[in-house]
Amino acid sequence: MTPYAPTDDILFALKLAADEEEMTSGLFQDLANGFAEQTILEAEKFAKAQLLPLNKIGDQIGARFNAGVVTTAPGWVEAYEKWKNGGWNGLSAETEYGGSALPILLNAACTEIWNSANIAFALCPLLSHGAIEALSAHASAELKNIYLPPIISGAWPATMNLTEPQAGTDLALLRTRAERGEKGSYRIYGQKIYITYGEHDLSENIIHLVLARLPDAPAGTRGISLFLAPKFLPDDAGGFTRRNDIRCVGLEHKLGIHGSPTCTMSFGDTQGATAYLIGEENNGLACMFTMMNNARLSVGIQGVALAERATQMALAYALDRKQGRALGALATSSIIEHPDVMRMLLTMASLTSAARSICFETAASLDRASREKDPTKAKVAFERASLLTPIAKAFASDIANETTSLGVQVHGGMGYIEETGAAQLMRDARICAIYEGTNGVQAIDLTMRKIMLSEGKTLENELTDMDKIAQDHSCEDLINAVQALKEASAFIQQALKQDPNIALAGATPYLRLFALARGGTLLNKAADRAKKNNDPHSIRRETIAKFFSRNIANCAPALAKSIIHGADSTLAGAKIFNRP
Ligand SMILES: Cc1cc2nc3c(=O)[nH]c(=O)nc-3n(C[C@H](O)[C@H](O)[C@H](O)COP(=O)(O)OP(=O)(O)OC[C@H]3O[C@@H](n4cnc5c(N)ncnc54)[C@H](O)[C@@H]3O)c2cc1C
Repeated sequence: MTPYAPTDDILFALKLAADEEEMTSGLFQDLANGFAEQTILEAEKFAKAQLLPLNKIGDQIGARFNAGVVTTAPGWVEAYEKWKNGGWNGLSAETEYGGSALPILLNAACTEIWNSANIAFALCPLLSHGAIEALSAHASAELKNIYLPPIISGAWPATMNLTEPQAGTDLALLRTRAERGEKGSYRIYGQKIYITYGEHDLSENIIHLVLARLPDAPAGTRGISLFLAPKFLPDDAGGFTRRNDIRCVGLEHKLGIHGSPTCTMSFGDTQGATAYLIGEENNGLACMFTMMNNARLSVGIQGVALAERATQMALAYALDRKQGRALGALATSSIIEHPDVMRMLLTMASLTSAARSICFETAASLDRASREKDPTKAKVAFERASLLTPIAKAFASDIANETTSLGVQVHGGMGYIEETGAAQLMRDARICAIYEGTNGVQAIDLTMRKIMLSEGKTLENELTDMDKIAQDHSCEDLINAVQALKEASAFIQQALKQDPNIALAGATPYLRLFALARGGTLLNKAADRAKKNNDPHSIRRETIAKFFSRNIANCAPALAKSIIHGADSTLAGAKIFNRP
């Protein structure tokens, strides 16, 4: 059996983020009495039976394009039908439109499992989840009534259409046009690139969420509106059979996630693509951010999923492969006996656990924000989720790249050739650091905006929590990591007032530093909880927490130094790289 995501670790991390008390008498009661366990086991059963067997087929055959028609890899259509019928799509969506209104945290746990099995497949529902949030928050009652039920059920998957050839990170440059049409509708004209699942054969309709600019819109990001444009429009008989003026004109050939069609989409080649406004005119970016924030956390979880799978595969291989004699051994040893291989495996396992705990904390904070009745507490929870989201996305996807690469290394030559699947994981992971806002953009978001939420109070609360855990453990490396984060935070906050370029130069090391301190403290909290509860994996959790503190989080002071003293030397690059 191919090594796979360990559900006991996922469940343990979920319970830690939800907090046991809140599961018995608080906001997360719907996870109690074995419900979370049962759901996670069912999600795993589905993933193993339906998604895992298609992972390699998706990679090798991929999605294909022929004259505007996109065909997914063999087995994809049947698996999607089962996905839909299993009711997985609407796990955390509101009940009013057919969802199950379960915690985002539970959906996050299941999302990890599905992405571990087959990220290219799981990407389709991932985007629908973001669209559900955006429509729930911003669409009119009429649009919600028509479109939310089929998106939630999975019958009509949704897409996100932002990117254009000249407008990637900088959406102010987007040119897709929208014109006001008849009966309150709009017509869209333009081309979008890199649209995930923009066209496919999994469903009878596809719902595109599209950013476009009205003729009288102000320049820049304040002049962007968000529209819903279905592939098929309603007909007079109440069906959806009228083809909208939207075409897929090609598929990208890419490094990984071959099973996921990455489409070039043309809107309005003839009469204009009929579309409906979501939210208010010129306020589209704010609406799209609801979708993007959801998707950012999900991409972080994709990172955890691939990192975990890589770790499991590397561990199985290291136990099996025999090379060399470990010191003191009488016969050839399994490579796991060599300290250097052990170091690689522990690096992979501890980075993965740290990233998972940060992602699940973010998800639980989002649940608290929406479930908490007290508006002050809800705001605190929302801002905590906002602070953690860029860290969850960027750290988890960065470590996915690091761990999947280490996974190849543990396999030696077998990792580099395609047979084991280690190489596919590495190729698939690469995109996670790029889409949904590159990791550089996440670092900038954290540094320029998130640490200043509520005049810095949100950050202060997080630092206080980390400090307490580090002090309680009397762990020098953790105490130093939190101290380094405090110093770097104070430096960045000052730099923001004096010379923001200094803060920008340190943004990426700052995000990493934050993740090391937060991840390390959460792993130690997990180890404590495991010991207290006589968790059967208590020794494993303690070993991982200790390894992370002493071998990974101990780099924190060096990162702080680079942030505080390294900006000038970074900005000096202008002297050598800028063309005269
Ligand atoms: C497989 C795949 C699937 C995708 N799916 C979708 C989708 O479904 N919908 C969609 O709309 N898009 C999608 N994208 C597009 C993706 O979101 C963009 O590629 C991404 O946002 C980066 O934009 P870009 O490629 O234009 O890079 P650029 O914006 O050109 O960035 C290049 C580099 O410059 C850096 N950079 C740019 N601006 C700044 C700045 N202001 N400060 C600091 N650094 C900066 C970036 O961090 C990056 O390292 C997908 C892309 C791929 C490859």
